[in-house]
Amino acid sequence: MSARIFCVANQKGGVGKTTTTVNLAAGLAKVGQRVLMIDLDPQGNATMGSGIDKRKLEMSVYDVLLESASITEARVRSEKCGYDVLGSNRDLAGAEVELVEVERRDKRLKEAIAAVAAEYDFVLIDCPPSLSMLTLNGLCSAHGVVVPMQCEYFALEGLTDLVNTIKQVHANMNKDLQIIGLLRVMFDPRITLQQQVSEQLKAHFGDKVFNTVIPRNVRLAEAPSYGLPGVVFDPNARGSQAYVEFAKEMVDRIKKL
Ligand code: ADP
Ligand code: MG
Repeated sequence: MSARIFCVANQKGGVGKTTTTVNLAAGLAKVGQRVLMIDLDPQGNATMGSGIDKRKLEMSVYDVLLESASITEARVRSEKCGYDVLGSNRDLAGAEVELVEVERRDKRLKEAIAAVAAEYDFVLIDCPPSLSMLTLNGLCSAHGVVVPMQCEYFALEGLTDLVNTIKQVHANMNKDLQIIGLLRVMFDPRITLQQQVSEQLKAHFGDKVFNTVIPRNVRLAEAPSYGLPGVVFDPNARGSQAYVEFAKEMVDRIKKL
């Protein structure tokens, strides 16, 4: 069996993509899955949040995209987190421009992942907050997209661009691609509006909405400053437990794909 590959994407910033990527990776590792986490955001937050210093990376996803390194050469192990990391840092910001000039520019990541796919159960890709060439490389590599979202007033409108991009990639570049699911994050059940938007989401997207809901939980926000996902930093926190539940839900869901 070769790895199932998922992008965590939403073109909005600050919606919980990176938190979801590193905690899902750690949650999957905890339930015995072999995981590669790829940081596709030049900010390198998922790298730092997995305990890997982005300033000290010898090789990164940038080298992989420009084909000066393989994933086998560029990945590092996060021992504390229990998964492998293909890290990123500011170098990656340049890749956007450099990739415009090259052949197969939207397929580079896909080809690189194919070489290591047999070594993993899951590959998770943390996307930048844009629908750029980097995100496109992620979407072209993946079987599916996990979309973290906050249940706010404009949440549904905000999804339209992403859904359209995913449809286009599906039609023209990657027949495998589908939305695996929408993940409600930073959820506060005391806020009536969030409950209402959550109901709207379910009415609109049905079983594309994951059952697991990630609560707003300060421990998840504190964990990155210790270079750890919440799931590792404080396994008993409500948010951490929710992400482990989510990992189990993902394992179940891929069996049905
Ligand atoms: P993105 O990658 O989409 O930009 P982040 O994962 O970096 O978003 O999250 C944005 C901010 O919200 C971060 O400060 C993060 O720690 C915080 N955050 C994310 N999820 C939660 C949560 N469930 N509860 C509390 N804070 C959260
Ligand atoms: Mg991020």
